[in-house]
Amino acid sequence: MADAKPRKLDLDRHEMPKQAPDVRRSNFDEVALGYAIQTAVEEASRCLNCKKPLCVAGCPVEIDIPGFMRYIVQRDFQAGVRLLKEKNCLPAISGRVCPQESQCEGVCLLAKKGGQLAIGRLERFLADWEAGHPGGMELPQFPPPTGKKVAVIGGGPAGLTVAGDLIRLGHAVTVYEALHEMGGVLVYGIPEFRLPKAIVRREVDYLKKLGVSLVTDFVAGRTRTVDSLLEEYDAVFVGTGAGLPWFMDIPGENLNGVYSANEYLTRMNLMKGYLFPRFQTPVKSHRRVAVIGGGNVAMDCARTALRLGAEVQVIYRRSRQELPARLEEVENAEEEGVAFQFLTLPTRYVGDQEGWVKAIECVHMQLGEPDASGRRQPVPIPGSETTIPVDAVICAIGNSPNPLISATTPGLETGKRGNILADEATGKTSRERIWAGGDVVSGAATVILAMGAGRKAARAIHAYLMHASHASVSAIR
Ligand code: FAD
Ligand code: SF4
Repeated sequence: MADAKPRKLDLDRHEMPKQAPDVRRSNFDEVALGYAIQTAVEEASRCLNCKKPLCVAGCPVEIDIPGFMRYIVQRDFQAGVRLLKEKNCLPAISGRVCPQESQCEGVCLLAKKGGQLAIGRLERFLADWEAGHPGGMELPQFPPPTGKKVAVIGGGPAGLTVAGDLIRLGHAVTVYEALHEMGGVLVYGIPEFRLPKAIVRREVDYLKKLGVSLVTDFVAGRTRTVDSLLEEYDAVFVGTGAGLPWFMDIPGENLNGVYSANEYLTRMNLMKGYLFPRFQTPVKSHRRVAVIGGGNVAMDCARTALRLGAEVQVIYRRSRQELPARLEEVENAEEEGVAFQFLTLPTRYVGDQEGWVKAIECVHMQLGEPDASGRRQPVPIPGSETTIPVDAVICAIGNSPNPLISATTPGLETGKRGNILADEATGKTSRERIWAGGDVVSGAATVILAMGAGRKAARAIHAYLMHASHASVSAIR
């Protein structure tokens, strides 16, 4: 491709059309509507084609961003998709949910002048263009089969990335997933209005077309142990995420109407509670819902409860400035009518006589010295106790990995919070022929970091499979 000339500085980022707040707050359709072709071409034209593109260094999977911008400008969208997919097999997903503002877009040269390029929106544009155009998704060229077999445990972004990378290198790959659908948090956690399930299914179907075998309703550690899989496969990748919810350990957490974010979102998303009674997931309708926490998970819970007709407030112990959720999602929540109680900490849930939660006792906080995370530590203000009436509470304060795999795999070393210990550069664990990556190693993080970890592990597994002196398990059997 010929190098395009540097373009003149244009700081006007193109907005993406969205459903209006008063419309979208009562439906589950996708909020952001995507760029039209002309807008995408104009937005991509703002890229300066930097000689040393900071955006690429800011991307955990090192996508050739200026390269795909040039293809959009030339309206060669197929070539743009091809380039994108060399580094990212799930572009329609990362284009929608990646925290671009703190990664590629945050370091883009244009960001220094206040008009960063909409890289995520353009990534989404290309992926959606490919899905919508008559030829459908293009399949890459394959090398001859290597005869090696890999089992991937967990069908979230880490596992799916490993599967996509290894199948393209000629290995036979099977993904084992505990739930009845592939996608991990992308299907059971992130709601339809932010990431339609059809898009995740589209990306999973692409992997199927590449030849990846997908097995659902398979709980590794229960259905079969990792060691039993190792008798059949040459290598195992563990990408089981961080699905074990944390609670605050305060009185009243066992009351009816107190949910973990995981339970609430799984019921509503994967089990289609929002389509009740068309789908038979029992859903109690709540009038006043409090969501505890300030991350993306809390925003998703709040906006889901709002769409189900509740008045919703998010209770967060620090101030708005420290909210860990993406700014875009906080603004979306505010526009839709979610209320925020900042500098407030729940201390007890109060129940009625039937055992249902009816109020939260809280204390107000002030910000003190910075803590280990670098954020100012919230400190209770004596005598500031207050009570908030509610009929449901959703606790979204964090998750850690489920201990099932580590408990059933002797010699697999874990850290303090149950995370599997793995080499950062390769994903190699303390056990021979076992690699791990994504949230199960890092703790709850992001889709693109899970994909990045999957990519590194796939590279290391490939190197091992091609150079190890061991005979292939598949050849032995
Ligand atoms: P997961 O996505 O958790 O997938 C792990 C899979 O392994 C699951 O499907 C699970 O069922 C399966 N599994 C677990 N145990 C077993 C077993 N024993 N046997 C077989 N299968 C098993 N990140 C962003 O970048 N942007 C966002 O906007 C964003 N929003 C989020 C919103 C919510 C509600 C949540 C919960 C998370 C969000 N995240 C977001 C974080 C992001 O989704 C995760 O970091 C990412 O999905 C981690 O990928 P993973 O593949 O490691 O794990
Ligand atoms: Fe384009 Fe920004 Fe990357 Fe420069 S840093 S190449 S302007 S996207």
